[in-house]
This record gives sequence, structure tokens and C-alpha cells, in this order.
Amino acid sequence: MPKLLLITASSPEIRNVRRSRVLNFQQITMPYLAAQTPPGWDVIHVDEEAEEINWDIEADVVGITFHTPSAYHAYEIAARFKLRGICVVMGGPHVTLLPEEAGQHADVIFIGEAEGLWEEFLKSFEEGSYQHIYQQTSAPSLENIPMARKDLFHRHDHTNGVIFATRGCPHECDFCTIAVMYCRKLRKRPIAEVAAEYASFNGKIIIFWDDNISADLKYAKELFHAITPFRKWWSSQASIHAGRDDEFLEAAAQSGCKQLFLGLESISQQSMAGVNKGFNRVEDYFQIIEHIHSHGIAVQAGIVFGFDHDTPEIFKNTLDFLEEAGVQNATFNILTPFPGTPLFRRMEAEGRILSRDWRKYNSRRDVVYQPKQMSAEELLAGFQYANERFYSSPSIAKRLSQSPVQLWWTLPLNLAYGYRWRKTAHK
Ligand code: SF4
Repeated sequence: MPKLLLITASSPEIRNVRRSRVLNFQQITMPYLAAQTPPGWDVIHVDEEAEEINWDIEADVVGITFHTPSAYHAYEIAARFKLRGICVVMGGPHVTLLPEEAGQHADVIFIGEAEGLWEEFLKSFEEGSYQHIYQQTSAPSLENIPMARKDLFHRHDHTNGVIFATRGCPHECDFCTIAVMYCRKLRKRPIAEVAAEYASFNGKIIIFWDDNISADLKYAKELFHAITPFRKWWSSQASIHAGRDDEFLEAAAQSGCKQLFLGLESISQQSMAGVNKGFNRVEDYFQIIEHIHSHGIAVQAGIVFGFDHDTPEIFKNTLDFLEEAGVQNATFNILTPFPGTPLFRRMEAEGRILSRDWRKYNSRRDVVYQPKQMSAEELLAGFQYANERFYSSPSIAKRLSQSPVQLWWTLPLNLAYGYRWRKTAHK
């Protein structure tokens, strides 16, 4: 039986960066790809966030998926297996964004999604001939996608299952790789199939890995009604539109939604307009967060620092806002112009890209472009300040007393984040 080794690659630097996070969810690409592999293959999955690669392992094909900051690391993995004469296949976000580069390191690359083409490649491989590039000509249907292989989930996190209902997002924010990878096209799995997979997890806590679960509000509400009977708890990413729709929030809460990750990005309206995300109306943020809280749902704010209209005051002002709004959790990122995005092209044209070392495209430790209103050092220092202040005891007390939604788990989580941040911040 031919052997397929699937690797979710993560460089040592990225693993180090992730140590500051308490929650580090299982990536789903490879468990879903494994499920789409024909039955004649023996499939092994190595998730580098959880385990080391056994370099002596026997394999006929090695498949590697990775994000931009792990690109060089993935190329090193590829080189080691190629030295042994093993066919190396690469796919994932960085390959889709920069296929010419990735193609130099692999026997086969997949540009875009693998559905449909994956089986075709494996069949060709078994017949002794295959192409160098497999590329979708149109977005594949998400119907009849087999459930992800649960036996290949290796990461130990605080959840019991990861799943996706939709792929892509109809918006076109300049900095977002999702918009580039899926060409602004939103696709949805049939609700019955999602509900069946959701129900198939034994545990209580499920993460929807959707880029934006509120991208189609009607679909989302139907999905929430379908999963309500299973009495699980779930969380997902959503755009600001989620917080404006009472029916959405009501259905989400009833179906077990405990937290929404909201892509607020910035409290500067000019910054939002500058990256084609003007639909985030900053003046509505406070009310939207309050609205979500009123349904018993906690808010995790996604915040990005370093937009062109951000001045050095942005850090303190953002933290003042998050504390006043009683936001339970936040993820701070340094703006990163990922290759292939409109933001990268614009900054490149303006001569502001400071580094093309993909290892530095980690959004947390390095600034890879010249910010407009501050120095790179100020941006980095502001990012540190935001994390330190957000997870300080006074801030935790202020935020969680302001909105004691889901206090039983948001308090320990905040304390754990604070501890982890202090332990790893300067390493
Ligand atoms: S709304 Fe979110 S997922 Fe959609 S394009 Fe903008 S940043 Fe990306």
C-alpha cells in the first residue's frame, strides 16, 4: 500500500511565537485532505506544533502545507525528503500566494484548493506520471466533502473539535490573504453535512475555522438552528455585521456560541478606509460589542497596529477603548503586508518593504515595512505595550467587571494569557 506523509509545517520561530498563546487551535487542512485521499493509501499526519518529524519514516509522497513565515522551514523539509527521492507536494496559503517561489522547492504544487485535483494527482502518481502544477480553474464545490480524519488531529488544545462551514469572504480588505486566495468568493457547505460533522465530535467545545461565519447571515442562522439540538459550545470568527443582527446573535447564542472573534482591526476610521475595510464603522464599535454581550456572548477583538493613519497615540487609545467596552479577549497583531496582497503591492510600489525574509512575516516579533506615522521600533514597542497592558491585573479587572459575560472561563483565560505573555514576551 503506498504511503502518504502529510505535514503541517511550523518553523521553530513560529512555534516560539505561538507559545505566548494559550489557545492554539488544531489546523484542519491536512485532516480534511487525508479524508479525501483514496482508500488505497496509508496516511500519516505530522503536525509540527505537536510533534517532530521522523526523518527516517517511509513515504512515497510527502505533502506539506504552510503559511508564509514557515516557508523557508518548509523548503528545508522538502529538500530533505527530496534527497531521499521522495515526491514532495506543496500547497497552502504561501504556495497559492507565491507559486513561482514554492514551485522551485517541490515536485508538485497545488495552487488554490485541492478538492477534486488531489484524487487526480494521486491517481496519476500511481500510474507513474503527474504534473508539476495543479491549479483550480474555478472554485470547487464544497458539497459532499468527507468529514475530517479525527484520528489525525494531534494538537492538544482546549477544544474537542474543529470544523468549517464556509470558505472565503465576500469582502476585499487590502491586507487579507483570504480575499486573495479565494477571490472574494464565499462558498458554503450544505448545512446537513456540517451539522452531521458537528454532531460527530464527542466533546463539548467546537471551533468553526471559518474565515467569517457571518459572511452570509441567512445561511449562518439556518446553520445555528440546525446545530442547536446538539447542545455544544462553539466559537468562530465574524465580521462586524454579526453584531448588528439581532436574529443572528439570538440564534448563535441559543446554539451554544460562547465567543465571537470580531475583526475590529482598528479604532481609526481613516485606517479602516485606507485598507478597504471602511464597512467597519468605528463609531458603532461600542454599541456592537454591547449588543453581542447582551446575548451572553464574549468578544475577542482582533486588533492590528501599524496602518498608515496610525500615530503613536493609537496604542493607548485602543487600550482605553477595549477597557471601556469591556472586551473579554484580544489578539494583537503588527500589520504585515503578506506577499500577493494589494497591501504588499502598494507598499512595494512606495518602496516601503523593509524585508523579504519571510521568517519575519510573523505579525508579532518583526516589522517588515516602513510605517508612515511612526518608526518600526515605536510600532514594536506599542505592540508590546498593548499586550502588557491588556493582560495586566488592573486591565483584566476593569474589562471583566465592565462586562462579566462568560466570566467563569474568560477570567482564567485572561490570567493564563497574562502569565504566558510575561513568560515568553522577551524571549
Ligand atoms: S472581512 Fe475579514 S476575512 Fe473578509 S476580507 Fe476582510 S479581513 Fe479578510
